[in-house]
Amino acid sequence: MTKEIFRLLFIAALLTIILPCMADALTIKTTQRIVILDPGHGGKDTGITSATGILEKQIVLKLAQMTAELLNDRYHTLLSRTTDTSLSATDRTAFANRNKADLFLSLHLHTQKNRSFFFYFGTPDPTPVNNSTEWKTQGLVHQHKSKQAAALFAKIFQNLYEETSHQSGPAPVIPLEGLQMPAILTEPFAISDIPGTAIEQQNFLTPYAQLLARCIETYFENKF
Ligand SMILES: [Zn+2]
Repeated sequence: MTKEIFRLLFIAALLTIILPCMADALTIKTTQRIVILDPGHGGKDTGITSATGILEKQIVLKLAQMTAELLNDRYHTLLSRTTDTSLSATDRTAFANRNKADLFLSLHLHTQKNRSFFFYFGTPDPTPVNNSTEWKTQGLVHQHKSKQAAALFAKIFQNLYEETSHQSGPAPVIPLEGLQMPAILTEPFAISDIPGTAIEQQNFLTPYAQLLARCIETYFENKF
């Protein structure tokens, strides 16, 4: 009997040490912001192709990986895809919603020289919101914050790349449908800007990755 009491006392003592440590670990995990970087396209869906054969799907994956590396020590950064696989828009949305992301950033490219775009979710017609499915209008719940984020990103880009026109605005883009957190789709540069060799591409993408990381940090610092 005494042996049993000693054993219970020992377990109780052990728990008083372990439980507060576990609580601390949980606190650290839950207070870290969750960022989803979503490299567009993948697999059979190559996205746009440059005149020299460079594929959008490869560049946006590389850019997402480089941006994530810069954020990883301060944020819980997740990529919707880490390899050359095809994902549907709903796969990407479900991934972000399941992980309870604080910010979703979809990465794409465009074909217009000296321009960059930052879109937040907007319906093509402002009136039919009540008639649409809940899924389609989900992006509107966080539209205000998304709009502020898009404007902030465009402003930060404008400060560094003055010769380029950086625009933010609403777009009924499918990758932003159904998301339960502030979300942006960016096209930071034209595919024709990308140089040919791997090392040149790395050098070209580095300042963009740094700038996107800075935009994300500033977004969280602003606490909209
Ligand atoms: Zn694209």
